[in-house]
Amino acid sequence: MIAGKRLFIVDVGSGASRVLSRLRIPQGEIEGIFLTHFHSDHIDGLGELLLQRWANGSRSDPVPVYGPDGIEQIISGFDIAYAQDRQYRVAHHGEKIVPASGAGAAAQSFATPTNAEAKILIDDHGLKVTAFRVSHEPVEPAVGYRFDYKGRSVLISGDTTKSANLQNFAEGVDLLVHEALAPHLVAIITKGAKAAGRENLARITEDILDYHATPIEAAEIARDAKVGHLLYNHIVPPLLIAPMEEIFVQGVDEVYNGPVTVGRDGTWVQLKAGTDLIEMSDLL
Ligand SMILES: [Zn+2]
Ligand SMILES: [Zn+2]
Repeated sequence: MIAGKRLFIVDVGSGASRVLSRLRIPQGEIEGIFLTHFHSDHIDGLGELLLQRWANGSRSDPVPVYGPDGIEQIISGFDIAYAQDRQYRVAHHGEKIVPASGAGAAAQSFATPTNAEAKILIDDHGLKVTAFRVSHEPVEPAVGYRFDYKGRSVLISGDTTKSANLQNFAEGVDLLVHEALAPHLVAIITKGAKAAGRENLARITEDILDYHATPIEAAEIARDAKVGHLLYNHIVPPLLIAPMEEIFVQGVDEVYNGPVTVGRDGTWVQLKAGTDLIEMSDLL
């Protein structure tokens, strides 16, 4: 998320830092990171990203990582895991290149908002970042984030089932970035797993159905909240070839009339201030 010259990251899955490198986004300039929840696929790229932010930027301040209660444990865990690496690098390159004080992250914990509660985390220089509660039970806490800047707005769902609370916060946003799991595609994996005697995989693919939204449900939110553009992210299962995207969004056009994009690594969205324009491009 880039607001003017301010760079923020929402969730850090494995590969996040490498994708940012390919996009030539200077990781040393990251001002803050927001975590929606602590499932491994949302944090397992954090060590790599924190290192890039520190060493690439010769930063002397640890990056703030915002998250609901429990974030301290995540940050202190990465801190412990990277403690020796930090010593080697400071000793080798010197304090001027890699100031010890800038390594790692500073946990910015907030109490998980209740339904309807808006937790404002940043409100300065025209940028407002708001956390709100979503429904990813049994995973608690779980939040989404809304960014407002110069009259434009983006809401990122995090992992959630269809959430009335999210819909309220999404009212009229320009861009809704919503997770989705396509049950009709996951069912194929379940069937294959059962046929192959992989009961554990079959069980997992059945369990995950109950804490994600379907593409149709996300489209219902987009329709009912009157959002400008729906961008799917956190796509389950991964779509290996482009034609699968059409199968993923099957039936969505009967629900939501607005523009829909199935996100990929490198999907780039520009919302120019003072316009209603939403420009999509593919940078990778
Ligand atoms: Zn999750
Ligand atoms: Zn996830």
